[in-house]
Amino acid sequence: MQTIRMQKEVPVVAQYHTIVCGGGAAGWAAAVASARQGKKTALIEKFSFLGGTATAGLVVPLSGCYHKEKRVVGGICWEFIKEMEKLGAAQIELPKGHVSFDPEIYKLLSWRMVRDAGVDIYSNCYLSGFEKDGKRLTHVFIESKNGTEALMGEVFIDATGDADLCHMANVAMLPIEKELQPMSMCFVLGNVDVSTDLLKNNIHHDGVVCKQSVHTGIHQYLDEIAETEYVPQFGGPWVNTTMGEGLIAVNITRTAGNGADRESLTQSEEKMRESAFRLVELLRRRYPEFKDCRIVANAIQAGIRETRHIRGLYTACGREMLDNVVYPDSIACCAHPMDIHSATDNSQTLMHLPVPGHIPYRALVPQEYDNLLAAGRCISADRASYASIRVQATVMAIGEAAGIAAAMCNEHTAARDISIDALHEKLRAANAIFFAADAQ
Ligand SMILES: Cc1cc2nc3c(=O)[nH]c(=O)nc-3n(C[C@H](O)[C@H](O)[C@H](O)COP(=O)(O)OP(=O)(O)OC[C@H]3O[C@@H](n4cnc5c(N)ncnc54)[C@H](O)[C@@H]3O)c2cc1C
Repeated sequence: MQTIRMQKEVPVVAQYHTIVCGGGAAGWAAAVASARQGKKTALIEKFSFLGGTATAGLVVPLSGCYHKEKRVVGGICWEFIKEMEKLGAAQIELPKGHVSFDPEIYKLLSWRMVRDAGVDIYSNCYLSGFEKDGKRLTHVFIESKNGTEALMGEVFIDATGDADLCHMANVAMLPIEKELQPMSMCFVLGNVDVSTDLLKNNIHHDGVVCKQSVHTGIHQYLDEIAETEYVPQFGGPWVNTTMGEGLIAVNITRTAGNGADRESLTQSEEKMRESAFRLVELLRRRYPEFKDCRIVANAIQAGIRETRHIRGLYTACGREMLDNVVYPDSIACCAHPMDIHSATDNSQTLMHLPVPGHIPYRALVPQEYDNLLAAGRCISADRASYASIRVQATVMAIGEAAGIAAAMCNEHTAARDISIDALHEKLRAANAIFFAADAQ
């Protein structure tokens, strides 16, 4: 490939203790946690709002707070859920523990929480590069309408989901085991008759325990007609109600692809936008409750389940999760089943955790740098453990731990050397539940 050198002088517009790259569930929780430790904190986000997959991707169930009716995630995540609940924008569904939420209220309240913590938000800013001095990152570059600018930092958290910062900085990545989980483009469907028995009693996520998920019947129908006519690849469908009369959020499209590759992402999004209309047409035809429905909003970006995972000092391991291994440096618990969506067909494999799984702090720490942490879906995790870790409550818990850990780092204390006892103490002080014994 032909290459060309780009050279330019870039203004350093501000200096921070902690710079968090990516304002998804993990990133904004990390930024709040760092700022609450009294550290000057910046949060860089390419969209004009926070939440990432939760909001831009319209993935509106927040799962993983509860394991068998015991809450295993507290801290910022739980505080946020309670704030949404106060505005009637969150439904906590027990015993499964999914929380359905309104994505517009999510955007509003997450932004407020980040601002209230004193974080500087760089929204509409794309992280495009970095500068380093030996084993320390010193700056990140952002692109916006202002052109290229640099932010100087003491500690950096990569919460871009796709490990963009780590990837640019040549951090080693884990090899892909078998395949990446597929992408889905979620959408909001309007003019649905939610009063019929099918939707009233059997909707997948509606804040109460459903008799039987609506997705089973629709899945069967689509599988059956796939024999005789064209049905695009699909999953579920999983359906949420939190958006008002006649509106439901639907997760049904599915395609294999690599969300961290420009061309693959473009092709996948194009395919799933087409699929959404095709699948809705089939629902309209078969189910009276969908007879007059229409897509009122597609997610503005494909929901990306899985891309890069850094190779950390330790890799979270599915086998150890099932064996109830509690690490000396556990920083969060996961409760969600190991939930693997097939990239090649319409199936899903669920393996329930007998006890909450544990995530070691070392899975957030890349080997190559002293002042870099990963948070959220890009941490060091094997295929099985990641299939549980990836849900929103868990990535928020990881983000909170990363933010507190970042606040403990400085030029003399590398991320790998912070006191785990002190980290645990601070997590407890923040009511972030991370040991099974703490579950309430
Ligand atoms: C279809 C689907 C269904 C799911 N179902 C559920 C479910 O039922 N329950 C549940 O709890 N979880 C579910 N999940 C998983 C969960 O939603 C995600 O794993 C989680 O939200 C990931 O959060 P994150 O912060 O790690 O990453 P992301 O949400 O990907 O956030 C990354 C953020 O970084 C920003 N960013 C990325 N690159 C850059 C850059 N270069 N510069 C600036 N900003 C950047 C992005 O815009 C984004 O805001 C689902 C996921 C998908 C895709």
